[in-house]
Parts: sequence; structure tokens; C-alpha cells
Amino acid sequence: MPTTTTDRLLHSATRIPDTVADARRLFDSGATRPLAARVRSLHALRAMVTENEAAFEAALWSDLHKGRAEAQLTEISVVLAEINHTLRRLRGWARPKRGPVPLALWPARARLVSEPLGVVLVISAWNYPVQVLLAPLAGVLAAGNTAVLKPSELAPATSELMTRLVPRYFPDGVVRVVEGGVPETTELLAQKLDHIVFTGSGTVGRVVMRAAAEHLTPVTLELGGKSPVWFDDDARLHRAARRLAWAKFTNAGQTCVAPDYVMTTPDRVPALVAALRAAIKDLWGPDPRTGPDYGRIVNERQYDRLVGLLDGADVVIGGEHDRSERYLAPTVVTVPVGAGRPSLGPDAAHPVLREEIFGPILPIVPVASAEEAVEVVNAWDKPLALYVFTSSGRTRRLFERNTSSGAVVHDAGLVHVATTGLPFGGVGASGMGAYHGTYSWRTFSHLKPVLNKPLGPDTLRLAQPPFTDLGLRLVKRLMRHG
Ligand code: NAD
Repeated sequence: MPTTTTDRLLHSATRIPDTVADARRLFDSGATRPLAARVRSLHALRAMVTENEAAFEAALWSDLHKGRAEAQLTEISVVLAEINHTLRRLRGWARPKRGPVPLALWPARARLVSEPLGVVLVISAWNYPVQVLLAPLAGVLAAGNTAVLKPSELAPATSELMTRLVPRYFPDGVVRVVEGGVPETTELLAQKLDHIVFTGSGTVGRVVMRAAAEHLTPVTLELGGKSPVWFDDDARLHRAARRLAWAKFTNAGQTCVAPDYVMTTPDRVPALVAALRAAIKDLWGPDPRTGPDYGRIVNERQYDRLVGLLDGADVVIGGEHDRSERYLAPTVVTVPVGAGRPSLGPDAAHPVLREEIFGPILPIVPVASAEEAVEVVNAWDKPLALYVFTSSGRTRRLFERNTSSGAVVHDAGLVHVATTGLPFGGVGASGMGAYHGTYSWRTFSHLKPVLNKPLGPDTLRLAQPPFTDLGLRLVKRLMRHG
């Protein structure tokens, strides 16, 4: 057995085509199709998580300085909720459904049968390395597929843990792990697969989609982007600011659905800053660096990028940083918008408004009104999430009706990801397709119509030559009935 990281990588790299071929052979054997086998796999996945919670917590601490509570709330419990939700509903989802038969085809019977796709590759990002690897896996297994997992090399402790645990809990090989970075993923993507779920950046999403096109493999792309916030609720300023700060600075801002920037009117900026300052202190104490619950930046490259974003920004809260620990305090900035420049997008005046921040820096972007905020959102890529803090129903509707995003949440942030049963995914540049609960079932199954048209009475004759006027008129009428 390989022991060191290098050994493991070499080992997995040389075996990638075999790994996928073995997963396919197992799928072709039919072993993963029976409902009982799917339930067994979901139980194995649940046992893998529940019997190793401490090991998962330790790996998340090592990779991201993620505290125990955060590891439970944003990773482990989300995965377990997904598995339990799926186990409770699986039988119902799997039951063939009756399909409609139009009058013109009577007598006939139609059924809708869900069938597994085959071998599904799950490629994960590093920021929620347990959740974004195992939550899709629950759906992949429920639908009767075999799975190949590619954890992120940038969360090495979690990746190593998955590599160790998966063969123990799935000795049958229903789930396999390939560790590694770009070369290994590139080789994996060159194999013929039946579906790919990719969580990561838009740049690599394009690489994945190009590779998938070679084999006409369908993809689900869970990407990121700049998720905006509109903040206009006066009445509950402190409560709303606390929720905003929590959503932004959880996992040190390294969350795909983290609020990226907050828009408010110029008059409200001082009150919002004061409320955010109080909220941050309340959540992480006067010095978040010494507390047990504030994360660290994943690596030095990301740290340097984030600290670079502070250049030319006016830091109004936080800003303290320490490279030796990859610590960057919860930070709020205001930036010059620049006359004649768009507030946001590739031509915006400041880099913090030109790219997904993906770290603990929250820019405040003053705008004249909620209507102008809508224009800012619509001027660039469709975001993964949009958050609205207001007490006005009219303002909520304004955003719901006039913008497009993966999801809208009112008066909170992040929580839609943990709302098991709602589809989770982006739109446009923030992603393609969705999963969670029944949407995972749809994504990882093929819904196959099966039609039975008895040979007698032979009503199809009316639609076959030689045609008669009467027959044709009748068929036309029946067909147009729909
Ligand atoms: P990334 O795109 O750099 O990497 C994701 C995965 O792709 C990793 O497993 C990596 O090994 C692999 N990879 C990297 N470069 C590759 C290449 N050239 N060819 C093939 N594979 C390659 O993303 P990341 O830095 O891990 O994650 C950050 C991004 O992910 C952010 O944009 C964030 O918003 C997004 N994200 C989205 C979600 C979601 O559910 N929508 C969740 C988490 C993160």
C-alpha cells in the first residue's frame, strides 16, 4: 500500500484508467441497480461519516482552521441531512410513475422509469471539502451509479482521509477515490464518464466542459461569482448586520455563496459600518485571531491575493493580517467607484469589484436606490446567490422579479444551501444544473419513458397508408387534441 503523499499520488495517477474501467465494470454487472444495494451504499456512506466525525473535524481544522461547531454545521450535518432525506424518500422516487397517453394513441400504457447513468465523477473544491464531495455522492449512489471522487488537493488532510476511508466503507468499489491536482484531473477527464459534477471556479469549469464535450458527457457545474447583498432595513439594523457578518465571515469568507459585496444608500453607510463592527465583535470577539471559531486562508497564494486586494481600498473595519498564520481579520472596505466606471465587473475601478473575493473582505458599494442596485446586479454575470435585507415587501419583489440568480434569500445568507430538498445550483456564469434531494435524483438518473402499445385493437392503422379521408380526418383531430 502507498504510504506517503507522493506515493499515493503516483499510485493513483498510474491507475486512473483502471479505476474508471473497474467502476464501469461494476456498474455494468448490475450490482448497483437494485434498491437494496442503493440503500446499502447510503448506509455505508452514513456510517463512514458518523463513525469518523472526529477525524473529519480534525482534517477540516488542519486544512482550514475550521472550528468544531462550524465543521458540524456547515459540512458534516449538511451531508448527513442529505443522506437521511434521501433514504426517507428513495423508495418513492424509484417507483415507476405512470405517464400520460394522448387520446390518439389509445389504447396504450406509459410509464416513466428512472435508470442510473453509469460512472459519475465528482470533482470537489477545497473550501467545503467534505460537503461538496459527499453531498452530491448521496444522490449519485441513490440513483444507482458508481462514483469516482476527486477531492481537492488544496485540502490535503481531507483528501487523505477520504482516500483512507472510502475503500474501508466501500470494499465493493462502488465508490473510488483518485487524489491529485491538475494532471490527475486532466487524466480523469480524458476517460469516458457518464456524468461529471464539478464544484469550483468558472475558469476550470470551462476546462471540464470542454473535456466532457469529447465524450458528450453531461455536466453539472457548481461555480461561484460575486453574490450581492442589498441592505436597506432600518428597523432591524443590528440583527440584519449580524446575519450579514456571519454569512460573510464564516470560513473566513471562503464560501461560494458568501455575500461578496453589500450595496446600500450613501446615507446608511456609517450606520451599517457601526452595526457590522459590533456584529463582528459579538461573533468572533475583540481579536478573532485568538478565538476558536475564526478560520484561516487556505494557502499563501490565496492569502497574498486577498491582502493585495486591500491596496487602494479604505479599510473601515479589520484589515489586520499575518502571513505566518494566513490570518486575515474580518475586514470591511469602501472603495472609490471612479467617475464614469461601472460599479462592478471587469472595468470597475478597483480589483475588489472585478473578481470574486472569496475571502474575508466585504466592500460596501453605495448606490442611490434599490432600483440602482438592481441595475448593478444585472450589469454583470448572474450571481450564485442574492441576499436582500429589507422590511419592505415591495423591495423584495423588486429583486425577485428583476434579477436572475441561483437563489434569493431574504433577511439571511447561506441558509438555502442547508435547506435540504431545495435545488442548489447556479444560473449563467454561476453554474449549470442543480442537486440536493430530489434534484440530485433527477440529475443522476435518466428518466426513461416506456410505452406499451398493444397489437390489438390495431388503431395505428389509421395513421398508416393507404390513407382514407375519413381516417386521416379522425387521426388529425385526435392528434391535435394533445
Ligand atoms: P478550482 O476550480 O481551482 O478547483 C476545483 C477542482 O478542479 C479541484 O479539485 C482541482 O484539483 C481541479 N482543477 C484545478 N485546475 C484544474 C485544471 N486546469 N484542469 C482540471 N482540473 C483542475 O476551484 P477552487 O479554488 O477549489 O474553489 C473555488 C471556487 O469554487 C470559487 O469560485 C467558489 O465560488 C467555487 N465553489 C462553488 C461551490 C458551489 O457549490 N457552487 C462550492 C464551493 C466552491
